[in-house]
Amino acid sequence: MSKARRPATIVASAGTRGDPGYGSVSPPVWTSDTYRWPDSDTKPTYDYSRTVNPNRDLLSEALAELEGAAGGAVTGSGQSAALLALLLLPAGALVVAPHDCYGGTFRLIKGLEAQGKLRALFVDQNDERALAEALDRGPALVWIETPSNPLLRIVDIAACAAAAKAAGALVVADNTLLTPCRQRPLDLGCDLVMHSTTKALNGHSDLFGGALLAADPELVERIHWWANAAGLSASAQDAAQTLRGLRTLPLRIDRQEATAKRLAGWLEEQEGVLELHYPGLDTFPGKKLAERQQQGPGFMISFRVKGGEAATHGFLAALETITLASSLGGYATLICKPSTMTHRGMPPEAQAEAGIHGDLLRLSVGLEEAEDLAADLERGFAAAGQGG
Ligand code: PLP
Repeated sequence: MSKARRPATIVASAGTRGDPGYGSVSPPVWTSDTYRWPDSDTKPTYDYSRTVNPNRDLLSEALAELEGAAGGAVTGSGQSAALLALLLLPAGALVVAPHDCYGGTFRLIKGLEAQGKLRALFVDQNDERALAEALDRGPALVWIETPSNPLLRIVDIAACAAAAKAAGALVVADNTLLTPCRQRPLDLGCDLVMHSTTKALNGHSDLFGGALLAADPELVERIHWWANAAGLSASAQDAAQTLRGLRTLPLRIDRQEATAKRLAGWLEEQEGVLELHYPGLDTFPGKKLAERQQQGPGFMISFRVKGGEAATHGFLAALETITLASSLGGYATLICKPSTMTHRGMPPEAQAEAGIHGDLLRLSVGLEEAEDLAADLERGFAAAGQGG
């Protein structure tokens, strides 16, 4: 039996021995911004909360164990974790990112490029030639996001990371959509893994957070240095609340994924679906690769509604249980129209190139019963004028 602990054990026991003061099993929230020094020349482990905080440490230790990392920083949002990764790079560095990455990542990289802080190349990382050409240009960082958001395209992490490292680049994977319960990018050769903990890791849609973790202790040091220097750290309250949410992550993922599998099978039968994307389906082009590098297909589905954008509006207006909102990974099933919501930071040309059309919907499957969700989607298809 492997010595590495399983996710359920990691999250259930995280921090239960973390209170040196009173031995409380449920760790307290250390909200103090500052800590008493024993004397002016002896720096205590915890001195100032922007730099270091016990609640962030408990959370980052649990996340690091889940991801097989040496450590990392817990930040105020997924975007600040992304910025932290970019702060590790020298000025003017080339970043190679997927052409269909999360819209906020695209906006951040493009914004920094417009200011001359870095250079960017967005490529289809499944196009071997395009990726090889991009790597020939000597990137400092290769950004991987798989499954991609919103089309759930799968990139071969091991192959992409090996090629990127041979070209001298650092490799970061955004693992938000699958969580370490379904994919561990560091095991597949990435240097860094980032998360929007806002999503499934917290799972309760009630805070913002992020994390950047690394396998190499020297990289972990640089991450901490920049998180402190740039003030990107999460608050103690948010870190404590995220650890509380994290405790049920494996249970939630199992249930959300089981429901997503059933819904994807149901959607496959629906007349009103123009195109369906779910890594667990036999018809999904990346299924074999997903089976190789993931421990399950996950809880995200996307599909195009027959009848175009107008029919899509009708579909969304008819939903009663599923909420129209732009986040993912929480207890409630959310639907969004990426072209005008999550990916509005991406200009129409870039959206078209990435395959994000006005009739595309993205579903983050939550904890409701599959039958109730299917009934709601059926209402949507009826309103879209397609029958169900
Ligand atoms: N990465 C992915 C894949 C996301 O979906 C998101 C947010 O939707 C982010 C990063 C950014 O995270 P946050 O909203 O916590 O800043």
